[in-house]
Amino acid sequence: MVIGVLALQGDVREHLHALNAAGASAIPVRRPAELAAVEGLVVPGGESTTMSRLAGVFGLLEPVRARIAGGLPVYGSCAGMIMLARTVLDGRDDQQSFGGIDMVVRRNAFGRQVDSFETDLAFTGVDGDPMHAVFIRAPWVEQVGPGVEVLARVDGGVADGRVVAVRQGNLLATSFHPELTGDLRVHELFVRMVREAAAGPTKDVQEKEEAVR
Ligand code: GLN
Repeated sequence: MVIGVLALQGDVREHLHALNAAGASAIPVRRPAELAAVEGLVVPGGESTTMSRLAGVFGLLEPVRARIAGGLPVYGSCAGMIMLARTVLDGRDDQQSFGGIDMVVRRNAFGRQVDSFETDLAFTGVDGDPMHAVFIRAPWVEQVGPGVEVLARVDGGVADGRVVAVRQGNLLATSFHPELTGDLRVHELFVRMVREAAAGPTKDVQEKEEAVR
């Protein structure tokens, strides 16, 4: 199974490593033809204003939006989360996102109190110990629509309760950087999402579709 990492800017190499370690075959994506060849896509951490500009320059904004509309599984971490947001607060005026997740995200949200920090989180859908999460000039999710599942919140401190991981259908986003800690559980979750999407609708979805035909 081939999963791409959007390789315009940011911590591309760390995501390629984590995806390969989680059982996928990961390739960098810079061109529409490379995008067409993948069954899942990771949008890395980095700087969303730069990534947005380069996505325009490389002709990837519309192709990525079209693949998202077609059901492509996408995981965005940090700047990647910002790229998946319907609405970005505290962005640059000309900043564009791919969208896809019905959420409002605030850029550099923790920055008013503390730029970068680490904490442990409970993460819905991931077994085992709490997850050690690294935040670097991170966004948080300020509002979600009804189709969005909240997977993790900050527990304690000045940002107590802030939403930092979400899923909507085939789209996953975290404010933090699991690619930097060696904990593969988020990448493993995403690889499972890609595998399930590639296998097609589950039997009970097929049965429901039959029933309404
Ligand atoms: N502050 C960055 C942005 O606005 C995100 C930081 C990160 O990805 N580590 O895109």
